[in-house]
Amino acid sequence: MIARRTFSSAEYSLATSACIALNNYVSAVVLEPCPCLIGGEWRDISGVTASAVHNPSRGEIIAEAPMCTAEQANAAIEAAAAALPQWKETPPVERVRMLFRFKMLLEENFEEIARCITRENGKTLLESRGDLRRGIEMVEFACGAPSLLTGETLENIARGIDCETVRQPVGVCVGVTPFNFPAMIPLWMYPLALACGNTFVLKPSEKVPLTAINIARLLERAGVPRGAFNLVHGGRECVTALVTHPKVRAISFVGSTPVARYVFETGTRHGKRVQANGGAKNYVLIMPDADLENSTRGVIEGAFGCAGERCMASSTAILVGSAGKAVLPSLRQAATSLKVGPTDRDPQPEMGPLITREHRNRVAELIETSVDEGAKIAADGRAIKVDSAPNGFFLAPTILDEVQSRMTVAREEIFGPVLNVMRVDDLDAAIETVNRSAYGNGASIFTHSGKAAREFKHRVKAGMVGINIGVPASMAWFPFSGWSDSFFGELHMQGKEGVQFFTEQKVITSRWFSEEGDSIWSTR
Ligand code: NAD
Repeated sequence: MIARRTFSSAEYSLATSACIALNNYVSAVVLEPCPCLIGGEWRDISGVTASAVHNPSRGEIIAEAPMCTAEQANAAIEAAAAALPQWKETPPVERVRMLFRFKMLLEENFEEIARCITRENGKTLLESRGDLRRGIEMVEFACGAPSLLTGETLENIARGIDCETVRQPVGVCVGVTPFNFPAMIPLWMYPLALACGNTFVLKPSEKVPLTAINIARLLERAGVPRGAFNLVHGGRECVTALVTHPKVRAISFVGSTPVARYVFETGTRHGKRVQANGGAKNYVLIMPDADLENSTRGVIEGAFGCAGERCMASSTAILVGSAGKAVLPSLRQAATSLKVGPTDRDPQPEMGPLITREHRNRVAELIETSVDEGAKIAADGRAIKVDSAPNGFFLAPTILDEVQSRMTVAREEIFGPVLNVMRVDDLDAAIETVNRSAYGNGASIFTHSGKAAREFKHRVKAGMVGINIGVPASMAWFPFSGWSDSFFGELHMQGKEGVQFFTEQKVITSRWFSEEGDSIWSTR
């Protein structure tokens, strides 16, 4: 934690332009403002502690996120509650008209936002564009709300009686999001929540608050009513206040498993509906008949894309039978040739830094622990030196061979550029290995055999399954179906389950009497 400082308006505009016109790296860094949006007012919060936001490519502090207390969290909820009556009565077609404008503004500012993501998260520009593009797809999905919200009717469920369903907004919703997808994950939540007629309070990760702020400014320009969308920063105190507030009806959370469990248990104990996505360990099986080039590319992109900081990272390759011989050298060759470097200026590398120095060091320690526990290092990224950015949080691609299920690296989520390699004799043993995991986000198989693929997709215990796909990532139109310790709740994010989560269903049975007073019991 660091002390808060305030900003003059000159600093404010300078910093904002620094965030959006960032192709040129400036060494005299001006801290960017990090205000909260409460009831339509952008407020600089003083008198609270702050958390440093870094440019991970340089190691420098670029902003300070205020760690809001219950006071600001409660104010944001009250603002959302005050805006609810009007917003929920706004016709769905009008609500999505605002989202169509939002989508256009996101497109117009696409490159600036992508650069902002890269600056505070460290992922490459290409990856940031993907982060934002997946988020925009969720806005596009939410724009279909008038169709998605339609109910069902059955005439004459009994004589003269009709039955219909309608979906109504749940009320005030809260979203708490992690650092690794600063645009996409918040956009999984509030466009659909708003389209369904709810009001919203977002609490983005204190490590990457600037993207959320810049996107919220576009939502404002699109015409979201004051208080219908609010944004606060902070950590446990702020989150606890949000998820226990009596006026909150629904909570969406994405982050690590311990915090997901905490938010789920606390929220549900206070009577809220909760969808909480947690951490993961994802597996890619490579069968002996798999295409070497395609499976190598799938594993390498899956393991080292976004520097491994992805809940869908393919962090473990299971080499089945004779696949081990050819695949490991191919993986090592591809991993060691990836260009690692700073992402905040061109030319772009293929992999950027990790989010913080502490996280980088934790990943390096886990590599050391794996060696102590018997793993063999096939590629070691710890000694990397990046001369052009000596203070960046870099760790190059690392491959650990002969990993066993009992090892710490096999049990704990690493969330860094480390690929575990396990070897098993056959498909049965591979599926058993996957199914021993406490997590259940994703699992993939590379094979030419339809029989093996069918067996795998049927028996594997994971919610997102890939066949000849390295990362079976979630897409706006389908639910992100995590299982086991990767998800707490009933209704997943995105797709039609998302619509169900953000609405309550009513079943209406109606009968109308004529002047003469017929009854349903009449048997014409
Ligand atoms: P995190 O759990 O540390 O933080 C997530 C959010 O929770 C942040 O907004 C943070 O401020 C808040 N938070 C942190 N500690 C808290 C506490 N004690 N009480 C209340 N709130 C708290 O996660 P992170 O490091 O930002 O993100 C990485 C994790 O997120 C990984 O485990 C990754 O697998 C997971 N993740 C999951 C998915 C998914 O859809 N399953 C997607 C992306 C990331």
